Amino acid sequence: MVLNEKLNIPKSISILGSTGSIGKSTLDLISLNKELYNIELLTCFNNYQLLAEQAIVNKANKVVIVNESYYKDLKSLLSGKKIEVLSGREALIESASIPVDLLMSGIVGIAGLEPSLSAIKQGTTVALANKECLVSAGNIFMSEVKKNSSTLLPVDSEHNGIFQILNLDSNKNVDKIIITASGGPFLNLEVEKFYNISPDQALMHPNWSMGPKISIDSATMMNKGLELIEAYFLFVLNDLNIKLDLIVHPQSIVHGMVYLVDGSVIMQMSTPDMRVPISYTLNWPERTINTVKKIDLAEVGNLEFKKPDLEKFPAIKLCKEVLYSSKDYGVALNAANEEAVIAFLEKKIGFTDIVKIVENVLNKYEPKETESIKEVIHFDKISREIAKKEILLCMK
Ligand code: NAD
Ligand code: MG
Repeated sequence: MVLNEKLNIPKSISILGSTGSIGKSTLDLISLNKELYNIELLTCFNNYQLLAEQAIVNKANKVVIVNESYYKDLKSLLSGKKIEVLSGREALIESASIPVDLLMSGIVGIAGLEPSLSAIKQGTTVALANKECLVSAGNIFMSEVKKNSSTLLPVDSEHNGIFQILNLDSNKNVDKIIITASGGPFLNLEVEKFYNISPDQALMHPNWSMGPKISIDSATMMNKGLELIEAYFLFVLNDLNIKLDLIVHPQSIVHGMVYLVDGSVIMQMSTPDMRVPISYTLNWPERTINTVKKIDLAEVGNLEFKKPDLEKFPAIKLCKEVLYSSKDYGVALNAANEEAVIAFLEKKIGFTDIVKIVENVLNKYEPKETESIKEVIHFDKISREIAKKEILLCMK
């Protein structure tokens, strides 16, 4: 529900994960139109210095530092300011339930699940960047959205593009939804060289500037598999006739495409800059001017499209199997991937081990119906234990 639409009062905004890539881009956009927004809440895990700076500059009402050992440092940086300072995971989850016009869900990983749900349970409009919560608990998550009449505004560029297209046409007649994939930094690298890819190489995305976890996911193309699952819950769950696919598009100019039943295809394009989709969610259902570079298609020259190479990027195949399985493997897929990405970043395993570990965990995991978030968290823990054993077996 948008409370302040067309009224001359600022929107109240909470940003979970304000010190991350999504959080910083959100605050950057807010700084261009300060009079439009009031910051209720900013949160982060460790980075108390940046959190304090953001809170002062944006006159936030409240901050939460999840790692309690930085509480005192944060408190002292904010002493004398009218900013409430809290710490710990419970404080994060509770603060996310404060009624606001929009909550930006920008925490990385399943750590974002409970705080996002906490907002949804208040019926809050949630700009959802965190895809891991849909991969791990999509059915429960979407049923809470429905039950509480909350609105989800997809932030992920591909999903945001599709959401923008669907908003154009109320009589949708959608046949198929396609998300694009840049292919990441190794699209054209010979597969024989994959094992020795270093974290530094994998973190260098050719088109997008993002946090470390999603950058590695983009390099393995696990990100695109996770995004297919995300797209399923956002767009297909309520209309199972809609087909879903992905296409490799190295320029990352087209983000989403919607095929209509009569053969028309509508695409959404922009410069690859997350501030475009974030801006749409911040101002939805309106739009506001920003400073993002506008695309010059003559300068871009060519827009290429090709099928993904599933042999080179087996993560996509794994995610499709999870998506179309009659059993619930989502939580194990996400947990195994989170653990394997951490192990890779810590240089414990090779690049190709990431997807191998995820596959091994999926083979060993016994899927159960998950009916509550408590169960999801439990199965997430079990999956991580299996993953840690697999990581030990791969360790260099
Ligand atoms: P990031 O690593 O840059 O930032 C993560 C934020 O979450 C930080 O503020 C960090 O302090 C906080 N955080 C980390 N662990 C936490 C925990 N255990 N508890 C509470 N807070 C914690 O990540 P990002 O790239 O901004 O990505 C955030 C989410 O958005 C991810 O789910 C990602 O898939 C999604 N996303 C990101 C982009 C992008 O361009 N960065 C694009 C599409 C989707
Ligand atoms: Mg994306």
